[in-house]
Amino acid sequence: MMKRPLPPEWTGWLAQHVPFYPDLAGEVRERFLRYLRAFVWDKHFFGAGGLEVTDEHRVVIAAAAVRLVLNLDLSYYDNLTEIIVYPHDYHHPDNEAVILGEAQHWGTVVLSWTAVLDGMANPRDGHDTALHEFAHVLDVADGAFDGTPELHRGGDYRTWARVMSKEFLKLRHDAPRRKTVLREYGATDEAEFFAVASETFFEQPGQLKEKAPELYDELKRFYRVEP
Ligand SMILES: [Zn+2]
Repeated sequence: MMKRPLPPEWTGWLAQHVPFYPDLAGEVRERFLRYLRAFVWDKHFFGAGGLEVTDEHRVVIAAAAVRLVLNLDLSYYDNLTEIIVYPHDYHHPDNEAVILGEAQHWGTVVLSWTAVLDGMANPRDGHDTALHEFAHVLDVADGAFDGTPELHRGGDYRTWARVMSKEFLKLRHDAPRRKTVLREYGATDEAEFFAVASETFFEQPGQLKEKAPELYDELKRFYRVEP
């Protein structure tokens, strides 16, 4: 890709909608912008429900995606080809919004623009729709939609499986009975558990670390970040 300055509107949109952007500094910010540009460039964005996709949609949605892989690699999104953007919530917010092709392993993410903005506007409530859907893409990058993304070392799987299944069962048990640090939707299945836990990890890291330190450690090892 040619090296050219970032359009000034882009940083304006990031400053306006993306609360974690101002905290990125130096080399990390440079990498973020490099990944962001590549993501906007590579992926096909389609408007639906009357929405006309603009660069503002592309940039803000790409920011949510890139945040997750900032210390990993953009290749986690290689199988993601298209992003469909609706103007508003068009279905139940907890509806599964990732549509996966089975044979080709291709992926489509469907997002409501208002849900994207709401998720970012409240960066500490443990709920971020775009982050949630892109966590699903990371999960399925290894071919299986099962709550376990490709981990960095073979030896990581054993602890991951132990901690995830323990915490998943705990959420299934506790969520109907008491307030839990993870949203109850994470008790749906292992895939939702990973996506919901990722939302909590990035938005409420302190609470997660306190209530579920092992889960926090697994996510920290995977995302290679301490939010
Ligand atoms: Zn989900």
